[in-house]
Amino acid sequence: MGAIAEGQTGIREVEILVIGAGFGGILAGIKLKEAGIEDFLIVEKDDGVGGTWWANTYPGCACDIQTHLYSYSFEPNPRWSYMFGRQEEIREYARHCVDKYGLGPHVRLSTEVRRAEWLENDNRWRVRTSDRTVYLARTVINATGLLSRPAYPDIPGLDRFRGKTVHSARWDPEFDPSGRRVAVIGTGASAIQIIPEIASKVSDLHVFQRTPPWVIPRPDRKISRFEKWLFRRLPATQKLFRWLLYWRLEARAMAFVVFPRLTRIVEWQGRWNISRGIPDPGLRLKVVPSFPAGCKRVLLSDDYYPALTRGNVHLVTRKIREITPTGIVTSDGLETPVDTIILCTGFQATHPVPEGLFTGRQGLDLTLRWRGGMEAFKGVSVSGFPNLFFLAGPNTGLGHNSVIFMLEAAMRYVIDALTTMKQEEIPALEIRRDVEAAYNRKIQSRLAGTVWASGCSSWYLDENGKNTTLWPGFTIEYWLRTRRFRLEDYARPEPARQREAPKAA
Ligand code: NAP
Repeated sequence: MGAIAEGQTGIREVEILVIGAGFGGILAGIKLKEAGIEDFLIVEKDDGVGGTWWANTYPGCACDIQTHLYSYSFEPNPRWSYMFGRQEEIREYARHCVDKYGLGPHVRLSTEVRRAEWLENDNRWRVRTSDRTVYLARTVINATGLLSRPAYPDIPGLDRFRGKTVHSARWDPEFDPSGRRVAVIGTGASAIQIIPEIASKVSDLHVFQRTPPWVIPRPDRKISRFEKWLFRRLPATQKLFRWLLYWRLEARAMAFVVFPRLTRIVEWQGRWNISRGIPDPGLRLKVVPSFPAGCKRVLLSDDYYPALTRGNVHLVTRKIREITPTGIVTSDGLETPVDTIILCTGFQATHPVPEGLFTGRQGLDLTLRWRGGMEAFKGVSVSGFPNLFFLAGPNTGLGHNSVIFMLEAAMRYVIDALTTMKQEEIPALEIRRDVEAAYNRKIQSRLAGTVWASGCSSWYLDENGKNTTLWPGFTIEYWLRTRRFRLEDYARPEPARQREAPKAA
């Protein structure tokens, strides 16, 4: 490409552009190479690889799925230190995979995708990035996941607060909470990891709880030297261990999607965790959830409840009314003075793609296409958006097992699609609207009977109460459904009437 438009550093042609260098993007790179495809780039907005495990650096950050399972099936790591891997170790694993599989030359860090438009006359995506490069790509794989855009609460006065404000997903590495008067807003997965870590360092910690979560014991432990040796010397033992972990977690789907009454076992574990962690009956009452376990994500912790019993930790259950320059005012008019607010308010999981990022056929913005709730075929393809594939897309999230399993299944399907396109010399494919609609009708009708639809509000549901994030069944079923790409499910967008040289601006 010769033309370089004013204000842009250049135009680059690439066969496949992958957005995001987290577990999805790294997997995409590995599998593309394995399929003999070398003409691809992975662009990543952060300045390191690992995605969520690069971005989330808050104290205590760890995985709540056993890491022998929360890793690629083809790249076992016999060196995991704990059952539930810590953030640094998982980030290091991601970097190891990039090195081992030779992805380095394919990765562009600190490069954020600003806009991607489907060029109907060219059957390609025109993608503009923050470094003012324009990429012309035949295919785009979006691997940014559902949990990459932090959600900031709409609390009046938040912007007027004069102290330090930090979001759990945008932790400031320079920030030291020692000796501060801290407020934590939210009691989800991130909060229950941060609170025990900082409770002994801060002078006062006010935990603002809107809805108490179910928190059950975390069966964590160090992996012994013998186990590591065994996994290294006899890799079959690690495979077996992974297999056992997988089926143990898979069994949880029985409770979530088949027999919701089984979630009472989880509730029993949660109550036991409360009674062993909190001696004070008054405090216990405040943390008992009033919804069935599993409706929101079940959390794992052994030290969260004990942290709440510390003299300097105060659980506030009154509703937040507003934030002043110096503190937080609750519904009873009382102001709690603080100098630091830690927002543990989660992610925009049901709106993972910002407006204006993807423009498909006929100028359709993806957020408009998804205004009734996001949906895709098998979580991968969206009608109106040819040659765009999602990893960790709509309704492929999990409440019970490792999402890496879902990523691998989806990526195999994508490779099958790309191989079919190449063999059949098809320049562009788009999921048929009727196939996509029928698929999503089934997904939604199955979700209706699950514990996730039992009445609580959670990040699984969008503002209309529609579950657009979770897979409605056993992961093995998703694996089976993505075994084979069927060309007949897809349409070929109208052939370009005239082939224009694509413009950069
Ligand atoms: P989250 O589970 O969505 O929790 C957000 C919390 O903020 C909830 O307690 C919510 O209360 C509260 N909140 C939101 N807006 C509020 C407002 N305006 N006023 C008061 N409270 C408000 O978010 P998260 O803890 O970041 O976790 C999100 C997901 O990320 C997890 O479920 C998990 O999938 C993943 N994650 C995993 C790990 C891990 O592997 N260990 C760690 C962190 C995150 P309500 O419940 O009332 O809405």
